[in-house]
Amino acid sequence: MRISDILRVKGNKVVTVTPGSDVTRLLALLAEHRIGAVVVSADGSRVDGIVSERDVVRALAARGAVVLSEPVTAIYTAQVRSVSPDAAVDDVERLMTEHRFRHVPVIEDGALRGLVSIGDVVKHRIDELEHERSSLEGYITGERI
Ligand code: AMP
Repeated sequence: MRISDILRVKGNKVVTVTPGSDVTRLLALLAEHRIGAVVVSADGSRVDGIVSERDVVRALAARGAVVLSEPVTAIYTAQVRSVSPDAAVDDVERLMTEHRFRHVPVIEDGALRGLVSIGDVVKHRIDELEHERSSLEGYITGERI
């Protein structure tokens, strides 16, 4: 299974924030869209960084409420690990586990094509197991599914 299979179901929409936006704006986006991370992008297509709720928590704990009026680039991660749409879901799962992050932007020809979260990967895994279970049940009972 490929990342493009997940995006086909989930869609290509990615919430982005410009590098100059402040952390308060970031929090509003996270809350409004009920998500855990936002891609930092000046033009909405090129990936300039990623910033997640964990970055906000760490910065608030370290420096307090002053962080809220700082630009997202004060707390973001600039070195983003991304994947292409034809990456194998298993490899992306491994990447997330190895580097301890839960979001991976999908990039094709230098442009943002989607974002896959650990939740998307887990959902995909459960769907896959359910499909396998149904097939095996059909095989055992002689019913075709
Ligand atoms: P997350 O688990 O996705 O909330 O992110 C944990 C940490 O990893 C935060 O510091 C994020 O900025 C960073 N991060 C999240 N996704 C990525 C990624 N794809 N590449 C590099 N860093 C990331």
